[in-house]
Amino acid sequence: MRQVTERLDQAKKDKLFRKLKYIETSQSPKVRIAGKDVILFGSNNYLGLCNDPRLKQAAISAINKYGVGSGGSRLTTGSSDLHKRLEKTLASFKGTEASLVFNTGYMANIGIITALCNKSWVIFSDRLNHASIIDGCVLSGAKLIRYKHCDIDDLTQKINKYKEVNSIIITDGIFSMTGDVAPLHDIVKLAKQNDILTMIDDAHGTGVLGENGSGTASHFGVSNQIDILMGTLSKAVASEGGYVAGKDELIEYFKNFSRSFIYSTALSPAVIATSIKSLEIIENDIELRMNLLSMSNWFQKQLRDMGFNVPETITPIITILVKDPERAIQFSESLLEEGIYIPAIRPPTVPKDKSLLRISLMATHSQQNLDEALKKIKSIGQELQLIGG
Ligand code: PMP
Repeated sequence: MRQVTERLDQAKKDKLFRKLKYIETSQSPKVRIAGKDVILFGSNNYLGLCNDPRLKQAAISAINKYGVGSGGSRLTTGSSDLHKRLEKTLASFKGTEASLVFNTGYMANIGIITALCNKSWVIFSDRLNHASIIDGCVLSGAKLIRYKHCDIDDLTQKINKYKEVNSIIITDGIFSMTGDVAPLHDIVKLAKQNDILTMIDDAHGTGVLGENGSGTASHFGVSNQIDILMGTLSKAVASEGGYVAGKDELIEYFKNFSRSFIYSTALSPAVIATSIKSLEIIENDIELRMNLLSMSNWFQKQLRDMGFNVPETITPIITILVKDPERAIQFSESLLEEGIYIPAIRPPTVPKDKSLLRISLMATHSQQNLDEALKKIKSIGQELQLIGG
């Protein structure tokens, strides 16, 4: 076990050792952590639906009708008519022929990429793509070519150099840690010119951007030009699960050949019913999303006006660039002592010298929550000399 001790010691030395924080309340703007009340700015519960009474009721009704466990994997006895309904709802939400639900977004990426790609394939993957995409690429045995983050010139050069008959471009829609958006217009154009498939992971765009909240591809008007629309139900949708949406034949293929879909017990009825209800709310409650996005506009402007390095974003993920991992942790811990929970994001999640504080807003944050956070971010930022005072 020498390796275990050595790696842990090294992580501690590098200030990269991670510990779990246990939340004792629901995912709401105000949560309790270790007995202390704090305002939460790190949740992916963007629309604030995790504690919504309509979703709770949908889950309770499903439990009353179907019980708790799903009892089997999807291709054996675990598929209920709720799964069928969710997959139909998702396909219509995404504007595709069909969809398939996996147990998590992580499992969806692994299952999609390993079923489709093998060593005869070349995968062009954005350098900041989510770990589950990278793991899927590595497991597939395909040649993995990582292009500079959102850099179309670099992608073009790499396509010219490495393209094979079987090639695919994979990108996050909204990048989870930096809150920026992939240039889907250009990616789709390039893919068409080169006869390359496209796949988008819209974990963070689903419910947040696009017509009726249907995602980043819809925001750019390119939904029908992307071959594989993948995403999660664990963020704005406030439930759990991952999905893939696309053409009928492709979905049948994943049903038959995605190992993470086939060899795992299906999600429980309560979770599936929650997702169905949530998608219904998202499609109909446009104001919820609009409020969230205008709140984000306002909040990031306040931070920039204070002098923080905050890249512009059209999403609810706002980042304060701190660079040094130790200072990022110090910033986050001082804020937590003051009752504001904003996680610090460090390597290996982001590149070296790009440590940051990741603020994610919820539609349910009140103006008072925002004002209190801004006041404390400012005073601690001054103490740490990240901004002038
Ligand atoms: N893709 C992206 C871009 C993500 O941010 C995440 C979750 N952090 C996932 C996939 C995995 O989704 P899940 O949490 O549902 O496994």
